[in-house]
Amino acid sequence: MPGTLPCAVVRVAEDVAAEFGAELDVNVPMSRLTTLRVGGPARAMLTCRTAEAVAGVVRALDTAGVPVLILGGGSNLLVSDAGVDAVVVRVANDGIRLDARVVAAEAGAGWDDVVAAAVAAGLGGLECLSGIPGSAGATPVQNVGAYGVEVGSLLRRVRLLDRTSGEVRWVEPADLGLGYRTSILKHTDAAVVLAVEFDAAADGLSAPLRYRELATSLGAEEGERRPVATVREAVLRLRSGKGMVLDDGDNDTWSAGSFFTNPVVADDHLPGVLAAIRSRLGDVAVPRYPGAGGTKLSAGWLIERAGFGKGYPGPDAPARLSTKHTLALTNRGTASAADLLGLARDVRAGVEDAFGVRLEPEPVTVGFTV
Ligand SMILES: Cc1cc2nc3c(=O)[nH]c(=O)nc-3n(C[C@H](O)[C@H](O)[C@H](O)COP(=O)(O)OP(=O)(O)OC[C@H]3O[C@@H](n4cnc5c(N)ncnc54)[C@H](O)[C@@H]3O)c2cc1C
Repeated sequence: MPGTLPCAVVRVAEDVAAEFGAELDVNVPMSRLTTLRVGGPARAMLTCRTAEAVAGVVRALDTAGVPVLILGGGSNLLVSDAGVDAVVVRVANDGIRLDARVVAAEAGAGWDDVVAAAVAAGLGGLECLSGIPGSAGATPVQNVGAYGVEVGSLLRRVRLLDRTSGEVRWVEPADLGLGYRTSILKHTDAAVVLAVEFDAAADGLSAPLRYRELATSLGAEEGERRPVATVREAVLRLRSGKGMVLDDGDNDTWSAGSFFTNPVVADDHLPGVLAAIRSRLGDVAVPRYPGAGGTKLSAGWLIERAGFGKGYPGPDAPARLSTKHTLALTNRGTASAADLLGLARDVRAGVEDAFGVRLEPEPVTVGFTV
């Protein structure tokens, strides 16, 4: 049963903690470690404050055949109420280093601290990714992106522990299979990210603005550049308005961000989907963009048009869609993982019934599948 690892495994965790200087905690509620604030206990958690400790601990647990869950900031995780049937390894090496054209961060550095440091130093490139919670090391895992920029376009190299060979080495971004909210690191135990490095522009200007809403808010045309600090402020303002910047006092931010990825519909399936949309909504303009292998539709638009408005299902529900953004599933304070799972399944089935499009969850689920 999840969360109830045998005592022998906890003893292995104790030995490994002592050997590599990690901090051991037992019976830790995952609800305290995840931004959705749900999830049962982890029987054992090892917090590692150096890259050597992360690598040593994961290698030792892998060799002992102990299941491992790598944890960063817990902002892309939905953990079951029964807890975690693995030893949690919390990546907490958090150094940040900047030089003329490179932003380097250890995996456990807070991502927004990395962006803030780069912006304060006048280094351009990362500013559109301001306000995204979680750790720097998790950003390549799902090729984090926002406001027209993905980390994959800025990554210089990534330091990995290869969990098959036990080797630590730098890899090029081209070797990571980076795609839309995915990589070879997502949903696998292939490797642990120990550090990341990004190329940066040293002229104090942002990356070219590629997202219309952001460009408009800055009075700019798409493709133009603006001072990095100005762009960071604008991104944080836009994100806050959508409940996409963590705020303890705002339940709309007790989420995992966007819960579903934007679906990419294959060319042969698209006419049927558009016909279903027209038959339900009439002759509406459907937001769509080119995607890898088809046409990308907006998950938030489909959810709303399928009848799931902001705040669905209503004020008394413990798990609701955000009142600011239909793509975020939120915990209003007393939700369980089961409540969130129920809401996710409800929304997914409703969209599929209405338009024949199956939404895929973006967060990593532990202990169940959506
Ligand atoms: C309010 C809010 C807004 C968000 N907005 C965005 C957004 O705009 N764009 C976006 O892309 N995402 C967004 N997210 C999702 C999330 O913040 C990112 O996916 C983030 O990178 C997750 O980092 P984390 O450290 O919290 O990862 P965790 O949740 O701790 O882990 C997520 C997955 O990555 C794995 N992992 C974590 N660290 C490592 C590592 N060092 N090596 C290997 N695997 C690792 C874990 O095992 C797990 O499978 C948002 C989330 C929230 C709550």
